[in-house]
Amino acid sequence: MQSIRKRLSIILVSVSILALFLSTLLVNITISKTFNKYLVEIQNKRNTRIIKYLEDVYKKNGKWSESSGVEIMHEAYMSNYALTLRNGDKKVVWGMNPHDIVQNTDVNMNVKNEGVYTTSTFKIQSNDKIVGYLEIGQYGPVLLSSEDVNFKISVNKSIILSVILSILITVLISLFISKQFSNPIRQVSKISIDLSNGNYRVRSNHKSSILEFEDLRNSVNILGEKLQHQDAIRKRLISDISHEVRTPLNILQNNLEAMIDGIFQVDTERLTYLNEEVIRFGKLIDNLNALREVEGEKTALNMEQISFRDILLSVVKEFKIISQNKNIDMVLEYSTCKQYNIIGDKDKIKQVIINLISNAIKFTKEKGKINITLKESDEQVIMKIEDTGLGIKEEDLPYIFERLYRGDKSRHEIEGSGIGLTIVKNILTLHKADIKVKSEEGKGSVFTVYFNRIL
Ligand code: ADP
Repeated sequence: MQSIRKRLSIILVSVSILALFLSTLLVNITISKTFNKYLVEIQNKRNTRIIKYLEDVYKKNGKWSESSGVEIMHEAYMSNYALTLRNGDKKVVWGMNPHDIVQNTDVNMNVKNEGVYTTSTFKIQSNDKIVGYLEIGQYGPVLLSSEDVNFKISVNKSIILSVILSILITVLISLFISKQFSNPIRQVSKISIDLSNGNYRVRSNHKSSILEFEDLRNSVNILGEKLQHQDAIRKRLISDISHEVRTPLNILQNNLEAMIDGIFQVDTERLTYLNEEVIRFGKLIDNLNALREVEGEKTALNMEQISFRDILLSVVKEFKIISQNKNIDMVLEYSTCKQYNIIGDKDKIKQVIINLISNAIKFTKEKGKINITLKESDEQVIMKIEDTGLGIKEEDLPYIFERLYRGDKSRHEIEGSGIGLTIVKNILTLHKADIKVKSEEGKGSVFTVYFNRIL
């Protein structure tokens, strides 16, 4: 198996080498063609110039002699082409030996002789009459001077150099690009492995400039956070529950053992006490069940339009006797002409009100007072429950909504499980509602709940 970095580098380098090869080939063909065309043009101009020269020579003398225009032989010899001058009857006036220019290569390194020797014949005219013929012979269709050859070599050299440079640059760039792709993937896969091994604290901090990789990184980080959160909840729940379960069990065990050993008498009072512990234990389990119901991420809510006032009235009615038994003056204030409509799950909202009122009664001493007021603002339905109870210590306030948290006094003097307010908070969060607490130790507490109102 190959790494993504290696695979990407190979692909990028191969594609660029292919592209470079094709463009080099095209550039080379184009340059050679244009250059050859240029050389042919120069050659044609040379031929026209020589013919013109010989026509002038003929015009001057009116006939051909062995010395007519021989001076151009030197240039021809130096430039590696052979000339043969013939008169009008095609008889040779003078001519060069093609063999000389082959040997000439050794003497004069200016010109290269390659290819087959070919000749071209041109007419020499005077007063529209053909007065002679000139044969120009050379090796190859075009003659290359050493400058031409050098030019061609240097062009090729530059092309080869640019190809080598381009390949080097491509390799470097592809290494860099493939690193940009492989690094985030490698990191995310490392984090996934860590998460699957139970190390939920790992996070990826290296941001990527590629949108999809950044999304992937964020998702894995969120996954890590959720797993860590769930793990913490699980661990805390297990330790909290085992602690809460251990206490009534210890009481039961110690009392039962004392009864078996004959230290305690088995009488109705002691049995009633033990039964109360069992009931408390049962309540704890019931509360845990209720908490589990509202804690699931996908808690099914039966949302509908409900009158908050009607639910509150029915709950207050249920608590009337309990509060009277404790001599607590429970007053409910609301406006009869308002409906206090909200969208919510009837049973869950009822649970919220029950938990808050039962706490108020529980933590308020005899002859205390509980004021429940229901108000409606432009956008909200607000329920306030004020009691003149024990109040909550300042240091306890931030934790009262936490699972199984119980205030100091409550833990020692008043029965409870520390789950009621956690359930309240969870239900309110599911309803996008809010709760605020104000409390002063020894004076009382105010719990205010804010719901979005239906207009
Ligand atoms: P529980 O009432 O079973 O102990 P809750 O979750 O309902 O658990 O409340 C958590 C804690 O918050 C209580 O133990 C108590 O210390 C404090 N608390 C809640 N409501 C009141 C109140 N009305 N007056 C005083 N303390 C309160």
